[in-house]
Amino acid sequence: QRGAPETMALRGIVLAFGGVRAIDGVDLDVRQGEVHGLIGPNGSGKTTTLNVISGYYKPEAGSMTIGAAALPPGAPEGRAARGIARTYQTPRLIGEASVLQNVMIGASISGTATFVESLLSLPRHMADERRMKAQARLALAAVGLSALAEVRADRLQHSELRFMEIARALMLKPGFLLLDEPAAGLSVEEIKRLGALIKSVSRQGTGVLLVEHHADLIFDICDQVTVLNLGKVLAAGTPAEIRVHKEVVSAYLGG
Ligand code: ADP
Repeated sequence: QRGAPETMALRGIVLAFGGVRAIDGVDLDVRQGEVHGLIGPNGSGKTTTLNVISGYYKPEAGSMTIGAAALPPGAPEGRAARGIARTYQTPRLIGEASVLQNVMIGASISGTATFVESLLSLPRHMADERRMKAQARLALAAVGLSALAEVRADRLQHSELRFMEIARALMLKPGFLLLDEPAAGLSVEEIKRLGALIKSVSRQGTGVLLVEHHADLIFDICDQVTVLNLGKVLAAGTPAEIRVHKEVVSAYLGG
């Protein structure tokens, strides 16, 4: 689908809040075509790392690159153009708009525009709108929500909103997709479906960075796992390597 797979590389990222280092020298490599799990106890710096990649936070030190190109720190408005899409711990929606419209805004979303701004910036030309609608319907089909396209978004159940958010992110055809606890509140059956969806997205060449508490999902679908503790990388490797990592097992997996 694309050229040679690229790597998003973080090196030595440091970010402090009021003198406390939330992330303290984090290195991370997310390769296109792979699912990379980011795990660790509460407060270990997972969401902060996503916010640094998204440009919401500007790190005090470190570098971010995609391939040979630097990723400018603290510039959320440029992330969509660099092919970086994300979802949030709390799904975001315009309740009065249809599911289809909520997905369509993914195509015009940027880090700083509000949802309403994104909605208003949807194309006014019929041909563009038709193309975008067709694309949004494909995205909804991919996440299994086709039947709900015309329903008001505030009628959806929590789990359906999570899948809607992923459909919206797919509108960007992202090179990298950041998922912040997508399995939270989902049933075992839904988590299975989510895992299959994430796998199929990565197989299309997208690099997925998955922050998740469900250890089973992480170990089932990830190609690489990075474990954070107190803002530092405690361990990084394949799921098989992480499973037998002594410090990880005692500090995080509770074995
Ligand atoms: P995780 O996602 O792993 O639970 P976070 O990245 O949310 O961890 O938080 C890492 C650390 O940074 C925690 O100690 C948290 O209290 C702190 N922190 C996160 N966001 C903020 C913020 N906006 N202001 C102050 N402290 C923050």
